[in-house]
Amino acid sequence: MLDRFLSARRVRQFQRLMRNGKLTLLCLFLTVIVLRGNLGAGKFGTPEKDLDEIRETFSYIRRRSEPRRVLEEAATVQKSSSASDSTENGSNNYAEFDIRKILKDEDDGVEEFKRDPSQPYSLGPKISDWDQQRGEWLKKNLNFPNFIAPNKPRVLLVTGSSPKPCENPVGDHYLLKSIKNKIDYCRLHGIEIFYNMALLDAEMAGFWAKLPLIRKLLLSHPEVEFLWWMDSDAMFTDMVFEVPWERYKDHNFVMHGWNEMVYDQKNWIGLNTGSFLLRNCQWSLDILDTWAPMGPKGKIREEAGKLLTRELKDRPVFEADDQSAMVYILATQKDKWGDKVYLENAYYLHGYWGILVDRYEEMIENYHPGLGDHRWPLVTHFVGCKPCGKFGDYPVERCLKQMDRAFNMGDNQILQMYGFTHKALASRRVKRTRNETSNPLEVRDEHGLLHPAFKAVKVSSS
Ligand code: UDP
Ligand code: MN
Repeated sequence: MLDRFLSARRVRQFQRLMRNGKLTLLCLFLTVIVLRGNLGAGKFGTPEKDLDEIRETFSYIRRRSEPRRVLEEAATVQKSSSASDSTENGSNNYAEFDIRKILKDEDDGVEEFKRDPSQPYSLGPKISDWDQQRGEWLKKNLNFPNFIAPNKPRVLLVTGSSPKPCENPVGDHYLLKSIKNKIDYCRLHGIEIFYNMALLDAEMAGFWAKLPLIRKLLLSHPEVEFLWWMDSDAMFTDMVFEVPWERYKDHNFVMHGWNEMVYDQKNWIGLNTGSFLLRNCQWSLDILDTWAPMGPKGKIREEAGKLLTRELKDRPVFEADDQSAMVYILATQKDKWGDKVYLENAYYLHGYWGILVDRYEEMIENYHPGLGDHRWPLVTHFVGCKPCGKFGDYPVERCLKQMDRAFNMGDNQILQMYGFTHKALASRRVKRTRNETSNPLEVRDEHGLLHPAFKAVKVSSS
């Protein structure tokens, strides 16, 4: 009948429309079935119930993907409401926040494991064949050689600070400057770096904390030939000076010091343990074992302190410290350890700040970095300043001012590479030392620090 009113073309169009319509209806039907199955309307769900459930599910998905900001607002509201944890408050003001609130439950003496006090302290299970174990490991792991070039041992510089924030408001800023300074030196000299903030052994808190850490790192990194311990209050003031590694080829332990002061006078400042090199070998594990027993805090450390003050020259009365203990060991057991210990004083592996900082201007005037000694000290160590503590042995103002100067002394050698320098040794502000150029690769690099020879690597073509 349609044929009578419509042309043949129109009829075909209409029939196609009907076919498509059937297909659309089929699709709709299938969609509802699938949605019911996935979103679930219950066994006896009515179409209304289906719709409600679908609506709710979609609104849940929308809620979940709403911007974080909204969630954070909700969290803030919740926190300030009485239903939330009453110890947290929702203030966004750092300046007014009392950090003790989140640190209050922690103290240093968290000890899950109490040592049997009748047993002598030990750093860990006795190891007697480390040279053999390490040697085998190195043979099997040729991709991790302990020497990265001839006379260039693989070195790990290790430093650290307490797990807690400093006891004064600027201490952490000085820790940051100090680690930045070490990162710079290590990058230039191809030295790896490890910063520790965990107290690995609660008994060995304070200056003794380095001992368990050093042992752990030696044993975990057989590829490391020398471990370089450096206090957090010591900074590199000479970024150019490279340690004369070849000089120590027959030694295992290098500290700044003087033989006569240690072995003859037993002077407690005859050497310094704020910056030293220790070879990864059995000998070093043995001396660590000999070193540690005076460390455990409490009665042991107190009593050992009395012995050290009695036996060592000029030592004040205080608990045992790692430096005095080392002087005592070397002075009383020279035969056992002496031939593998190198007391270095040809350059400042450690340099006492008191005799250096007032001479920086004179050094800059007359000398250049790379000398490492009294003319331009490798390291300036702020012994006794305690920049992270409450009280030090020196006026705070002098300590902090001089730490800034030491930092800038080293930092000027870094900035120099990029055409900047500090306006003055005491200033954190910088100025340009040259104009920008369109030939950046032709700039003068005074100390050759951009591409230092001692860091060059040879890539083997394979
Ligand atoms: N230290 C640490 N964890 C601590 C406390 C100290 O690793 O909990 C380190 C830190 O690097 C510090 C060093 O031990 O520099 C020795 O202490 P300090 O420098 O204050 O002694 P000083 O050189 O004044 O005798
Ligand atoms: Mn120190």
